[in-house]
Order: sequence, then C-alpha cells, then structure tokens
Amino acid sequence: MLREECGVFGIAGSPKAAVLTFRGLYSLQHRGQEGAGMVTTDGTCFKQHKGLGLVNEVFKDSEILDNLKGDFAIGHNRYSTAGDTNYDNVQPISINFKMGKIAAVHNGTLVNAYTLKKQMEENGSIFQTTADTEVILHLIARAKTDYLTNMIIEALKYLRGAYSLIFLTPEVMIAARDPWGFRPLNIGKLGDSIIFASETCAFDIIGADYIREVEAGEVVTVDRNLNMTSLYPFAKDHPKSLCIFEFIYFSRPDSIIFGANVDRVRRSFGRQLAREHPADADIVIAVPDSSNTAALGYSRESKIPFEFGLIRNHYIGRTFIMPVQEIRDADALIKYNPVRKVLEGKRVVAVDDSIVRGTTSQKLVRMLRNAGAKEVHFRIASPPIKHSCFYGIDTPTREELIASRYSVEQIRQFLDADSLGYLKKEGMLSVNELPKVDFCTACFDGDYPDPPSDNSAKEMLKRDCGAKRIKETGVIT
Ligand code: SF4
Repeated sequence: MLREECGVFGIAGSPKAAVLTFRGLYSLQHRGQEGAGMVTTDGTCFKQHKGLGLVNEVFKDSEILDNLKGDFAIGHNRYSTAGDTNYDNVQPISINFKMGKIAAVHNGTLVNAYTLKKQMEENGSIFQTTADTEVILHLIARAKTDYLTNMIIEALKYLRGAYSLIFLTPEVMIAARDPWGFRPLNIGKLGDSIIFASETCAFDIIGADYIREVEAGEVVTVDRNLNMTSLYPFAKDHPKSLCIFEFIYFSRPDSIIFGANVDRVRRSFGRQLAREHPADADIVIAVPDSSNTAALGYSRESKIPFEFGLIRNHYIGRTFIMPVQEIRDADALIKYNPVRKVLEGKRVVAVDDSIVRGTTSQKLVRMLRNAGAKEVHFRIASPPIKHSCFYGIDTPTREELIASRYSVEQIRQFLDADSLGYLKKEGMLSVNELPKVDFCTACFDGDYPDPPSDNSAKEMLKRDCGAKRIKETGVIT
C-alpha cells in the first residue's frame, strides 16, 4: 500500500476549539498514524500538545484537552517511514520570531526543501527538525515585509512542490495551498466558526457544513472577528496538478475533495474498469476497505453480483507502518481473512485499488484459491504504478514497484491470477464524475509537474526518510 503523509485541521472562533480539533483529527486518522499534535490560542498565548501515536493515544486524557485553552486551534496527523519517526517532527511546529509566535501544519512535500535549508544553514540558521515545515517558518521569519500575510506570501514564492498549509498566530489563522493544488484543503463552517480540513469527513464529525475548497494558489486569512479574506499571489494561469491518487485510494469515500465526492469518483473508476476489462465470473469481491466502492462500480457495470469475500481485521493497530519485510508479510495475512462459503467453487473478480510491490496481491490470490475460488480474475482500479511520488506520498523505490520492472502478463504470472486488468490512464481521466481540472499522474507516467531540484534530490537520497526513491525516478542523472 502507498501511504499518505498527513492530514491537517484548523478551527477559528469556537470556545470548543480543542475538542473539535481532536474530533477532526480523529476522522483524518487514515492520513497519518505516526503522530498527532495541536496548538491552541486564546489571542494571547499558545498552548500545545503533541506526541507519537494515534490521535486517541496522544490525547488520551480529557485533562490534556482541558488544558488546550483557546478559541483558535490547528492540528495535524503525521505519517512517515520509520527512519523519520521522532517527536521533533510531529506537528504543529511553532517558533517565535519578530512578529511573535507562529505555528504551522503542513500536508505535502517540498521538492526544494534541501536547497533552501542548505542556503539558510550556510547563513547561520539552526534547525530543530528535519521536517520541510520548519524551512517554511524560517522563510517567513526572514521575509522583508512586516505584515504577516505578506510575509507568508513572500515565503511561499520560494517553495516548490506540494503544500496544503495552515498557520496560526494569536491574531490570525491563515490557510494556503500550492498553485499546483496537489493536496486537498477545504473550508467549512460551524455556526460562526470557520474550519479548514484536508477532507470534509472532518467537517461531518463535528456537524460543520462544507463551504468550498481552498483554491490552488489561494491564501485565506481569518482574523479574530472571523472576517475571511482571500489573496491569489500566483499567476492565474498557473498549471494545475491535483493528486489523482487522492481519489483512487487516500481519501475517505465519504469525503469531498477537489470539489467532488470520493465515493462517486471511485465507483466510476470501477465501472470504467469493468468496461475495459470484463470477466466471465460468478461474483465480484473487493479487497477491503479502500476498494469497496470501486468493486461496487465494477459489479453494477458488469451485472456480476457483489459479495463480501474478504473480511478485513480493523484492529491490527499500526503494524503496517513497520517497514521490515517479515512484518509486512505477516501483515497481509493478519489483515484479511477469506469467507469460504462465499468463495467456494466460484469464479471470482477481485477488485483492488492499486498494486505496489505485488507481494500482498500475490498472497491474496493464494488466499482466495485456498478458500475454494475456482478462478481469480484480479482487477485494479488504477493504472500500473511505475514511478515514485515526491509530493507527499510515501512510495517505495522505483525498483520495488513491480510494474516498473514487469509487464502486465509477467505480473499476472507472479500473482498466479487467471487474468489481470489495470484501469487505463485515459479511461481513468475520462470519467464524468472527475472534476474538470488537470491531475498529476506522475506515479503512472513519470511526467513530474514540478521535479525536485538537483541538490534537494541528492540530499533526499541520503536521508533515511523514503526519499532515496528519487534515485530511481531518473530525475537526477
Ligand atoms: Fe499523487 Fe502520484 Fe502525483 Fe504523487 S505522483 S501527487 S501519488 S498522482
């Protein structure tokens, strides 16, 4: 599985800011399980709590939330590979600078963070973390203007890559999205309170209404009177590159992202997959949970009945983030169990959202056969993943991506499936339910909209944070 690297949440103007942020982070837990944190303010000072673990582990005592006083709050869920796991990198990250205090939460990855950091270190800057977010805060602190929004805009102009950001000071909350629009960021309202969140499932859990998304390249400021103002500091015709994988896998089906409901889009991928790769079969099953809606789409289009043939264990905690191969192997078997009575003697279409290394898929095919399936036709509701992501998604090195080395037929043989069909890129982008904007498809076609700068890429190669995958992309030559 690919893994998302963070969910962000912010609320302005609520006496229950901490509790609502806790709930918002809880609903965004799927976007990051390594650590969570929150900063609140009452307009004078900051209160902060963060830690490693799931949201309900980090905020396990009601006392913790009681101490997070204030009516403005921002929060963050973090995911990264194990080498990057440390308390310092858990967000929000806050600093004191000439304007006072500022805290930030960030979803996405900058592709020029190393170059910027190196320049600043050569000029005497000291960094406490290895997170990109701290680079952004340094840039803000160095800005040559003295009006906060302008300082942030000046800093944003140096950044390349993906960022959906929320900043908090005692006076204002500011949300910003990169001009490509890689990662989602939405605006909601609860009474007079204004809320920002990566996905709208965080609005639902607190009873807030979805208003709209923060547009790609937009900077939204909310002051203490809850006046909301927007600035568009980037060229209006800046190309867009929204992450298509948010629809394929990362976001929850009950969320709205990029202005569209994930469930509707994911089902339409399943329908398109059925048109492109029909199968002579008795039942359609999903590899739960992320493929449930795509499998339903496949079933509706093909008129082959949908069944629950695999059950997922939801209580395995965070074992899946452990990178050791033996643990990953065990993980696949612990995570799923076949329903023998559903599968016995049946020709089965198994729909999954993607194949990364192929090892889990291979185990699943074997599991279905051992449970009595007569035939297994594997169907993938996305194109083959051949390239790594630099924009906030943890991907293995290119050589670990099975589709980068093998043909579809070779992968079918490796999986021991009776047939294998991937959704075509053109078919995926053609579905009507998808918003009419440009999407990033770099992990399928290697067409990187904003490639890493040489220095950043070389340094990322050295880091133990999964970014060594850059070597495999051909970006550095
Ligand atoms: Fe999304 Fe893939 Fe682009 Fe990364 S490379 S932003 S996962 S579409």
